[in-house]
Amino acid sequence: MPRLTRALENKAWATRTQQEQPELFTTLATGQQPEILWIGCSDSRCPETTLLGLKPGDVFVHRNIANVLHPGDLSSSAVIEYAVRHLRVNHVVVCGHTCCGGIAAALGKKQLGILDPWLLPVRRLREQNLASLQTAADPALTLTELNVRDGVRTLKEKSVVLEAMEERGLQVHGLIFNVASGMLHELETGESGDAIRARLTSFKLEP
Ligand SMILES: [Zn+2]
Repeated sequence: MPRLTRALENKAWATRTQQEQPELFTTLATGQQPEILWIGCSDSRCPETTLLGLKPGDVFVHRNIANVLHPGDLSSSAVIEYAVRHLRVNHVVVCGHTCCGGIAAALGKKQLGILDPWLLPVRRLREQNLASLQTAADPALTLTELNVRDGVRTLKEKSVVLEAMEERGLQVHGLIFNVASGMLHELETGESGDAIRARLTSFKLEP
């Protein structure tokens, strides 16, 4: 049976990590207490734990193509529910990135099979913002930001998130990762008091 040759690298990594941080694996084996839920793109250039300078056990993760949050998606919804209600993370991050293939696809004209329904919310954002995208200096970056803001909005329409924001100060962040520099940029996602009240009235449900 063919073996993954990188398994040798894993052995070296495990040995090195054990030497450098003798408590780490023993602590991890007793459970997890991540501070952050990260919702990002599957892109191989955006490894959240590495780019945040963190280690195993620090970040609970959901990644998919173009970090799209479909409101009814069972996979991301289960991750959000578990991270917020049971792990009680203090931060939820939606992170898009530069040079995203999913965003480029949503700006293109080519049929891509199953990716077309997956990227539909991004195409819808394109439709809704067509005029500003046509005059934007960097349409891909603009659509990436719109998609992150949309993800943040979808998160804040989930009762479990609203409850944790109100009761224990859970924070929701929108970030862009620059693949060419390795730097994160946080988007301003603040809202007026009226907008917050309207959302709470409309989306916060009783347990
Ligand atoms: Zn991407």
